Amino acid sequence: MLDWFNIALIALIVGIVVAIVYSLRKTMAQIKASGVSGEDARQLAKRIRERQVKCPRCERISYALLGTGNQWKCKVCNQEFEGPNHLPPS
Ligand SMILES: [Zn+2]
Repeated sequence: MLDWFNIALIALIVGIVVAIVYSLRKTMAQIKASGVSGEDARQLAKRIRERQVKCPRCERISYALLGTGNQWKCKVCNQEFEGPNHLPPS
């Protein structure tokens, strides 16, 4: 009885590990397929950081909320707002 329980538990753990490994491999494949190398990604991040977008409330420089596309957050008053796209036109 206990043995079957242990086997089921091990099978569950193995299944979870396989699922994680599979999703990681898929993510890496997607990054490779998108053609962004490590150096390009760094350049892109630098260009996003260098954008000077002002807060609509207090006019201070805001930073990009990465992953959102065009959301920005003020460093001073924490106002979140929609601004220009993070990626500058190249
Ligand atoms: Zn502000």
